[in-house]
Amino acid sequence: MDITRNTRLLHANPVAEEGDPLSEPIFLASKYRMAGNPEGGGRFYGRYHSPNWEALEASLGGIEEAGCATFASGSAASCALIFALGAKAKRFVIARDSYFGTRKLLDALRPFSIEPVHVDCADHDEVRAALAGAPSVLWVETPTNPHLIVFDLAALAAIARAAGAPLVVDNTTTTGLLQRPLDLGATACMYSLTKSISGHSDAVLGAVTSRDEELVERVKDWRTIAGAIPGPHEAWLTHRGLRTLPLRIARQSENALALARHLERHARVSAVYYPGLDARTADLARRQLPEGGGPLLSFEVRGGSEAADAVIRASQLFVPATSFGGVVSTWERRARWSAETAAEGLIRASCGLEDAVDLLADVDRALAVLD
Ligand SMILES: *Cc1c(COP(=O)(O)O)cnc(C)c1O
Repeated sequence: MDITRNTRLLHANPVAEEGDPLSEPIFLASKYRMAGNPEGGGRFYGRYHSPNWEALEASLGGIEEAGCATFASGSAASCALIFALGAKAKRFVIARDSYFGTRKLLDALRPFSIEPVHVDCADHDEVRAALAGAPSVLWVETPTNPHLIVFDLAALAAIARAAGAPLVVDNTTTTGLLQRPLDLGATACMYSLTKSISGHSDAVLGAVTSRDEELVERVKDWRTIAGAIPGPHEAWLTHRGLRTLPLRIARQSENALALARHLERHARVSAVYYPGLDARTADLARRQLPEGGGPLLSFEVRGGSEAADAVIRASQLFVPATSFGGVVSTWERRARWSAETAAEGLIRASCGLEDAVDLLADVDRALAVLD
């Protein structure tokens, strides 16, 4: 039956038998009955198997028509993917402005022969040059954080293919519902499920998706060997959250776009960043993110850090917090993190599911402390 990916997401784990629960149970199990041999394919031990991972992986992989492996965190998923791909390629070409933790992870693996190379993914000549001369992996995150820059995934996939390098896309910010890297030529996607996908600020989890079955198996082998397994309870919560992702990510994107447009006209705001707003990449954003730009937007307040901190304190709806993708709107001044290179007055907001009219009024009220 030809069904959309939203419908597939809900029907990936069919309830077929009389008496089946419509919500799968949480299986708190470290051991499974096994009379035969481990090669038989059945479950036997909790570091290898969990019905709760399997249910989540079927739904999550189904969105992209891909295999899926879930992990204890997004960072654990990245680590397993680096180990799996690093057996063949030691050079990891990664955008300078990609997630700080991923760059830190690659740096920490230098003593194990991993060679991170930082590039501007908008400069295709620089990417091409970095991939030349040694077996490499291209690791791209888009939209970036906190400036929400959109990189051309189809073009980067072609460059990677020509160099014989797998392309990994960190697709956390907009999720596989809004952005389709595997359709555009990526080898694998990496996700922090901690953000919009689990969506309720109550679980830390990660995943890798790929249509290369052998790669998914190697990534799962690393999960088993290194032991960075998700807990059954977290997998269950994330699976429950995932079922409403289509509704939530659409609403978050609508709210973020409405707020971005509103802030562009505000006298106290000197810059606004959201996918599609920058004229240089507006066409690309429309093509690559046709259904929305995700929950994150950033803006710079005139008056630097003090002004931005005052605005953050004055809000009644945006909770001061890091991370993003929850049902409640949050924001923070990014430069409070020492590794952040954003302007002192840059506020990164994650739009939740409130009514846009309330969010816009709240931000106006908060910005009015500067008058
Ligand atoms: C949060 C995040 C990660 C890391 O995920 P954790 O679940 O915190 O380990 C990786 N990439 C991006 C883009 C993220 O936002």
